[in-house]
Amino acid sequence: MSAPRARAAKRATRLSAVVTAGPTREYVDPVRYLSNESSGRMGFAIASALARRGARVTLIAGPVSLATPSGVERIDVTSARDMHAAVAKAFRNADALVMSAAVADWRPARKLAGKWRKKDGGAKTARLDLTRNPDILASVARGKGERLVVGFALETGDGERRAQAKLRRKNLDYIVLNDESALNAIRSSATILGRDGSRQGLARRSKEDIAEVLAELVIDKARLH
Ligand code: C5P
Repeated sequence: MSAPRARAAKRATRLSAVVTAGPTREYVDPVRYLSNESSGRMGFAIASALARRGARVTLIAGPVSLATPSGVERIDVTSARDMHAAVAKAFRNADALVMSAAVADWRPARKLAGKWRKKDGGAKTARLDLTRNPDILASVARGKGERLVVGFALETGDGERRAQAKLRRKNLDYIVLNDESALNAIRSSATILGRDGSRQGLARRSKEDIAEVLAELVIDKARLH
């Protein structure tokens, strides 16, 4: 093995990373919920790529039907608030966080104990009051110190400007910009924007290929504690 590759391999085996994946689910009543189309594939591929390089990986996953990548510790969660608690705890002892989960921005203001029934009297509309979910990434990245934090942004239209603003507002080191074609898709295009001004375009490729690039970036840039 060449000296730089040996150094990278040594860094990777000491690296501890937290990766999130999939949607969250916000229950309206015991059988209904608000969620989104996220498959979790991107986050699972990143967790797998990091673990294959020797990193210690905690994968915090919303409800998805994917097998746990080998060598990865998986924590299953349901709601954004569950995910927030799990991420905050796991990140305490980690060097890096990759937040690829599609967290629901809103949850029902209250979860009904019994099934939400149609009202008698032929009502044609109903209202659902929503409460803002915590922004997990912004809240955890606020106190990140030297640790590496990577976020995702799914944007339509002038996405790059919005992703740049998000990078700063959420105190991230990198943000991965996708358009809506990425959701629940096999292939996707991505642009990795860095707080250091870097910009790497990855045109139409598999999520696994994008995950390889991101895993290399995390291993290269994370400072080990
Ligand atoms: O603001 P927006 O939802 O576009 O930001 C996307 C990034 O923020 C993703 O990395 C996502 O995982 C994270 N996020 C979060 N908590 C939320 C909403 C988004 O951590 N409530």
